[in-house]
Amino acid sequence: MRDALPLVWREIPERYNLIGSTCENCKQEFFPQRLICPNCRRKGNLVPKKMPDEGKIFSFTQVHSGAKGFENETPYTLAIVEMPNGVRVLGHIVDAQPEKIEIGTKVKAVFRRIFAEGEEGIIAYGFKFKVAD
Ligand SMILES: [Zn+2]
Repeated sequence: MRDALPLVWREIPERYNLIGSTCENCKQEFFPQRLICPNCRRKGNLVPKKMPDEGKIFSFTQVHSGAKGFENETPYTLAIVEMPNGVRVLGHIVDAQPEKIEIGTKVKAVFRRIFAEGEEGIIAYGFKFKVAD
């Protein structure tokens, strides 16, 4: 089980780096990464692209009854964040007073613990969002 964390890091870089894709043909950006551009199909050429690490809250919800693995974190806020490139990402909002969170609030992606699992304590890290100053 000791190898679990490095494996997660290696195999899923987009979870902590916000790496999506951009289509060199139509210039549209996607997150998570895609293999085929839905606009261009075979004419498209998708290449990895780092997503902007700032965006604004497009919509949000307060979660009072947490999903498995998140029971200890309630209440927490889940938001759909819209980035300047039009990509929308679902993520947790951390370190914010609930009254500071509204539609249009500027947020910044931060690297945080996502969950810890079992006695071996596998800890997965990934991005969350923090209200920007
Ligand atoms: Zn395309």
